[in-house]
Amino acid sequence: MKPVIALVGRPNVGKSTLFNQLTRSRDALVADYAGLTRDRQYGAAHHEGRDWLVIDTGGLTGERGGIEALMQDQAWLAMEEADLVAFLVDGRAGLTAADEQIAAELRRAGKPVLLVVNKTDGVDEHEVQAEFWALGMGEPEYIAASHGRGIGGLWERLEAML
Ligand code: GDP
Ligand code: MG
Repeated sequence: MKPVIALVGRPNVGKSTLFNQLTRSRDALVADYAGLTRDRQYGAAHHEGRDWLVIDTGGLTGERGGIEALMQDQAWLAMEEADLVAFLVDGRAGLTAADEQIAAELRRAGKPVLLVVNKTDGVDEHEVQAEFWALGMGEPEYIAASHGRGIGGLWERLEAML
């Protein structure tokens, strides 16, 4: 069975950009409009002899509707299907209340989660480290999806979680 990885996080953190990097395709819609990718999108990825299935999701807002509404979101369905969850946050924006709410839900769901800090271009990783460590989700992986930076390291972390 191919391992399945779900990309989750609030809108605009770069999930679809990362999906494109991982699947090396242009299938996922990348846009400046928050929440534009509404449905789940599946893509095949291949890394060092292993096939993966990657699921891109519309953003979790985390901001309204409470737990029930969150759990109805397509992203949570994708998470159910996944072996691993890559939880994306925005290194430029820093940690937000929505990120914290999503983190709480992910913890409750009990799936293996890798915290991925995206948009680290122009960001001092050491400066933002403490903030993201405080989420209590372990050591984050730092990437810049739109620059293709950190993708190799990300694959290594994902492999190690299987
Ligand atoms: P999604 O809503 O989480 O799927 O986010 P998208 O992949 O659509 O990206 C939202 C915006 O962030 C787009 O304008 C992307 O080009 C931009 N973006 C994605 N990754 C990076 C990155 O590593 N650095 C910067 N500076 N911008 C990025
Ligand atoms: Mg998207």
